[in-house]
Amino acid sequence: MADIIQLLPDSVANQIAAGEVIQRPASAVKELMENAIDAGGTSIKLIIKDAGKALIQVIDNGKGMSVTDARMSFERHATSKIKKVDDIFSIRTMGFRGEALASIAAIAQVELKSRRAEDELGTQILIEGSKILQQTPMQAPLGTSIAVKNLFYNVPARRNFLKSNPIELKHIYEEFQRVALAHPEIAFELLSDGEIKFQLPAENLKVRMVQIFGKGTAERIAEIEEQTDLIEIKGFIGFPSAAKKTRGEQYFFVNNRFIKDAYLNHAVLTAYEGLLPADSFPSYVLDIEIDPAKIDVNVHPTKTEIKFENEKMIYAILRAAVKRSLGVHNITPSIDFEASPDFNQYYQPMKHTEIPDAPRINLNPEYNPFAARVRQPTMNLRDQHNAANWETIFENTLVPDTITQSSLALPEEKDIPKSSTSIAFQLHQKWIVSPVKSGLMIIDQVAAHERILYERFLAHLLNSPGHSQQSLFPQTLNLSAPDFALVTEMLAELKALGFELREFGNNTFVLEGIPAEISDADGLELIEKLLENFKELAAITKIDRKENLAKSLARQAAIKAGKFLSAVEMQSIIDELFSCSTPSVALNGGKTLTIITAEELGKKMAL
Ligand code: ADP
Ligand code: MG
Repeated sequence: MADIIQLLPDSVANQIAAGEVIQRPASAVKELMENAIDAGGTSIKLIIKDAGKALIQVIDNGKGMSVTDARMSFERHATSKIKKVDDIFSIRTMGFRGEALASIAAIAQVELKSRRAEDELGTQILIEGSKILQQTPMQAPLGTSIAVKNLFYNVPARRNFLKSNPIELKHIYEEFQRVALAHPEIAFELLSDGEIKFQLPAENLKVRMVQIFGKGTAERIAEIEEQTDLIEIKGFIGFPSAAKKTRGEQYFFVNNRFIKDAYLNHAVLTAYEGLLPADSFPSYVLDIEIDPAKIDVNVHPTKTEIKFENEKMIYAILRAAVKRSLGVHNITPSIDFEASPDFNQYYQPMKHTEIPDAPRINLNPEYNPFAARVRQPTMNLRDQHNAANWETIFENTLVPDTITQSSLALPEEKDIPKSSTSIAFQLHQKWIVSPVKSGLMIIDQVAAHERILYERFLAHLLNSPGHSQQSLFPQTLNLSAPDFALVTEMLAELKALGFELREFGNNTFVLEGIPAEISDADGLELIEKLLENFKELAAITKIDRKENLAKSLARQAAIKAGKFLSAVEMQSIIDELFSCSTPSVALNGGKTLTIITAEELGKKMAL
């Protein structure tokens, strides 16, 4: 039999590639604008007609192309951006697959005009369905203009697949805004059917956000600037009070390239935890600068998804940075020491406190009749950081006057002397009462313990699996068929929390261990109630599964009202509560604590 394998003609191969890279007019907009940025343009103009179906034109004042480059740019795998394999790992530009122009030219009529500074004459190329129709020298302004006409003119199936003009326009605006937000230092303009839709002079990011999101934006955003060994985070986050009912204004950039990342989004959301009204979404525009060798940008043909080598660390840093910014703007206390032990290796406290001052500790010996143990001056950096945090956050608010340090319950730090103890007593086996600088702090013991456990369990689920306490006598867990299916589905998460479950057939599991945090609980009862609570929460709210699990288990495992607490137990609850990211918010949205100020007391006593 004759050989049957043939190489695809270029035009066909390009059309196939185009299917991946160019799905709709907005994809062409993205590719052309990114090329203009890579070319060093400082002013970029986008012109569209008929929602991009008739015309997409991008004009830049970048470095332009030589005659040969202009011709080459339409070849597949033609790129000026990598020369050797190693370059892939250090590339900072937007493109490098060398596919965009070839793809676009395969499915449209394209006119390119370009001139470099050193050339007197520019070049014009007309190309249609991958065929060069004409290449001529001609007068042209500095930079490049690429006009894409009648997208998908030769792929009717695709053309018919396009949505209505308002929808295609919306996609184009989205791409345009992403690029404009990633590059406030570049001036952009967008004309649609002859009308100016955006005209954005070069500016800083804050002003660019106002240009795009409208007046009033500046008053409801907080800046973030965080520098660590691994990454640098810059940008703005919206105040919780300005949260939107839709996800619209959420932008992540990595090295100024827009990306979508559900995991990092989660990091931001959890930093807002307890601060947002139900079903609302915080706005953010955040750029993460990272060594390109530590990411893989090529996992997705349109490159909006990337892989991080070190995503857990980035998650932790990002979350801490957002929390800190919310805290600095007095939106919530921000205390960031719950991170995993290796976190500090990358984490440097705020720039301006790179060498933290020796913490000032407000001991008030007159007030505290008990001999407070004074902090030894042997703190490691982490403690210093914590102490500094405590001070800045609670200076004017609610620092118990003798607590200066969070629970440093990390095993390797056990031998560090505890800073000091505060006086606290229990009221009605329900409240922990403790004097603080401004008055009297009253903590709800149940709500506080739930908050503590919740944050710990969530951390187990997200990045640092918990330990398990092996049961001496494994118990059998008989479940209904739907519950069995539910547990099977959540097995990995239950493990991360510290449950050890072995499938035993017939809707049965053997429970061989439970989370170390709650080692004295009855395992069977615990898991049954956990399931109940989980299903209940799932029915009434839309929180994600991990949050739900952590919440349900925290509720089950927390101490109850009526439990007597020793002085040490109270102290440990106070310490741990204040090492939470959101110490004052209860899981049900209420408060874990309140303060009766001296002033209020005075009023009560007044005549
Ligand atoms: P990539 O961007 O991945 O390199 P493209 O197909 O998008 O691939 O572009 C191919 C090449 O054409 C680029 O590497 C660049 O050298 C050149 N090019 C494209 N657009 C422009 C532009 N606006 N200005 C200057 N050069 C450009
Ligand atoms: Mg490109």
